[in-house]
Amino acid sequence: MTQNLEDPVELLLEVLRKGGHRVTSERVEVFGHLLGVQRPTTRSEIATEMRGKGIHAPTVYRTIDLFVALGVIQPMSSVSGDTTYELLPPFASHHHHFRCLRCGVTLAIDAKAEEKVLRDMEDGLPGVPLYHQMDIFGNCFKCLESLAATAAPSIGR
Ligand SMILES: [Zn+2]
Ligand SMILES: [Zn+2]
Repeated sequence: MTQNLEDPVELLLEVLRKGGHRVTSERVEVFGHLLGVQRPTTRSEIATEMRGKGIHAPTVYRTIDLFVALGVIQPMSSVSGDTTYELLPPFASHHHHFRCLRCGVTLAIDAKAEEKVLRDMEDGLPGVPLYHQMDIFGNCFKCLESLAATAAPSIGR
């Protein structure tokens, strides 16, 4: 694959045109923001950023829905219940997540061996897959450390 040689914005324009959608500056701006943050982000976070560029929230939300439908981004429910969005390949590297149930942090994890299994599963689907997600939930080391710190009685103070 030559995906790393291509400009992601050019790729987006191609996806929009192929899908019969107009290329608008708003769509390019929202995409540029997603490209810049490189982490799962919520609709309202994106809308807040875009407000500074004079793009209204309803336009941002419609753009997000379009990007989901086109397989440009993937929605995920966060630990707090909000939906977050993240770019899909070839716009970003494909990865899975470790998610802390205490602080809600979402970290990328490597799952190369699992990819093969998931690809085999996708061969037998009754439809065309756009993306998959596999998250592992738990407690991050940071949270465990601060838990241990508050649980340990301090002696001699
Ligand atoms: Zn945590
Ligand atoms: Zn995967």
